[in-house]
Amino acid sequence: MKDKMAEEKLKLEDLLGGVQRIEELERIEYVAIVGAGVMGQGIAQTIAAAGIDVLVVERSDEQIERATESLKTTMEREISRWAMTQSEMKSVLTRIKWTVDKNEIPECDLLIEAVDENYDLKRKIFRELDEIAKPETIFISNTSTLSLTKIAEVTKRRDRIIGMHFLNPVPKVPLVELVRALETSDKTVEIIKKFAAKIGKTAVEVYEYPGFVTTRAIVPLLNEAMHILLEGVASAKDIDTAMRLGYNFNTGPLEMADAMGLDEVLAWMETLWATLGEARYRPCPILRKLVRERKLGKKTGEGFFKYDADGKRIN
Ligand code: NAD
Repeated sequence: MKDKMAEEKLKLEDLLGGVQRIEELERIEYVAIVGAGVMGQGIAQTIAAAGIDVLVVERSDEQIERATESLKTTMEREISRWAMTQSEMKSVLTRIKWTVDKNEIPECDLLIEAVDENYDLKRKIFRELDEIAKPETIFISNTSTLSLTKIAEVTKRRDRIIGMHFLNPVPKVPLVELVRALETSDKTVEIIKKFAAKIGKTAVEVYEYPGFVTTRAIVPLLNEAMHILLEGVASAKDIDTAMRLGYNFNTGPLEMADAMGLDEVLAWMETLWATLGEARYRPCPILRKLVRERKLGKKTGEGFFKYDADGKRIN
């Protein structure tokens, strides 16, 4: 009799746990995104398009102006290709609030960090926001190569920290890598898996490791294409054409690096090179040179190729 009661109690606790988890899921109604560069803008568009309100926090009014203009231009280009309607763009824009003020973060149910690939910066932001966000808010980092555990350790919510590695361009890439840090709880994984599905992404679970799956696999290809260019084997245009047509890629590796942002690509290579020690991750000198010259790819109008103000390739 005692055993039966204990069993019933467990079943009830399971049921209540389930109800509580569903309630938490339903509470993801307002998402904060910190950093509105290439990735932050795409993540904001994707989440807003799924009908969820978004608060985008940037570091200055100039950055907000740049980001709003850039997001509008991206969506207008989609409209001109008949891939989006005016009303869809309007509904995305009305769901996004842009600010330099962190005061509204305590109202958010989820926080996604998409600032530069830099430990100190990410840790500083996590430490600061941990103090002001709701205790139950899950913190997500979009890092491509850095350790989530190392970022999580500056907070008091280590079980509620997870990586969500979106790929560029976020609205178009249907994949997200879910990265467990050392102390990420199963409940956090479960909630974020459902959130990923809600915003139209297929999630793959990966262990925390430099570069996860996608960055680790693509970086040597980008690096090799840069070396081919450096060694004068072919022009940038011909390298990309060869890889596009030869392997049925949508974009050649050099244009892909330009779209990712050459400073970001360099930061990933530096981390992979430092942590894994394999020569294939050692950044090609041509990449360092372009970054030194602030030719960062699409976002600055020039990298391996040139781009107009709308981000369209012009050479
Ligand atoms: P980015 O340089 O385009 O944007 C970074 C943004 O963060 C800038 O707009 C900057 O103003 C903002 N920022 C910096 N400090 C801030 C602060 N204190 N508060 C608010 N905003 C701040 O970089 P990105 O390419 O969007 O990359 C962001 C993250 O996403 C990185 O961790 C990167 O590794 C990762 N990622 C990038 C790609 C890609 O293809 N670019 C793909 C997957 C993941």
